[in-house]
Amino acid sequence: MQKLIFATSSPHKLGELRDLLPAYNVLGLEDIGYRHEIDENGATLEENALIKANTLFDHLHEVSLGEDTGLEVFALDMAPGVYTARYAGNDRDPVKNMEKLLSALKGSTDRRARFRTVIAMVGANGSRLFEGIVNGHISDHIAGDGGFGYDPVFIPEGYKMTFAELPRDVKNSISHRAMAVANLVSYFNK
Ligand code: IMP
Repeated sequence: MQKLIFATSSPHKLGELRDLLPAYNVLGLEDIGYRHEIDENGATLEENALIKANTLFDHLHEVSLGEDTGLEVFALDMAPGVYTARYAGNDRDPVKNMEKLLSALKGSTDRRARFRTVIAMVGANGSRLFEGIVNGHISDHIAGDGGFGYDPVFIPEGYKMTFAELPRDVKNSISHRAMAVANLVSYFNK
């Protein structure tokens, strides 16, 4: 089975990536014994995805993947975007993040939002980016206990429930990460 090494230590992301890539052996940082923090100090999702993939490539010298995701809210000028994880502070607390978002949108009729994932692939021949987007809107309260991060406040277009309420396979068939992974796989299969 072909190995795909992602510069992430998030068990949630790895779980989703493994579901989305059943034909590959998906490995994360812990699986390869890499225990350093990667500084995500880029100004865009693209820069952060490249920082992660480049760091891993410098360490491994084999094809390396980095992934970064942001929640972009139209009424907030596409914030929190690259600051999604730390929106309510450096402790990256998902409940505090969602509460801050709900209060920023209190009374707002424009609740349109999207998740955007960028996957960077870095190898000896250079780098390539793959993007995935899912459109939707922010609910007015937290609902559901599936998924992770902002899933309990994000309702994807065409659905009435949050990502955290929808079955895992539904999220995996329409999500930002699923779309980015589909673009990556179609590049592999070219
Ligand atoms: P990062 O890509 O690990 O920097 O994550 C950025 C932020 O987006 C974190 O707060 C994550 O919890 C959140 N996030 C990333 N992917 C998802 C998702 O699929 N659903 C909900 N939140 C997500």
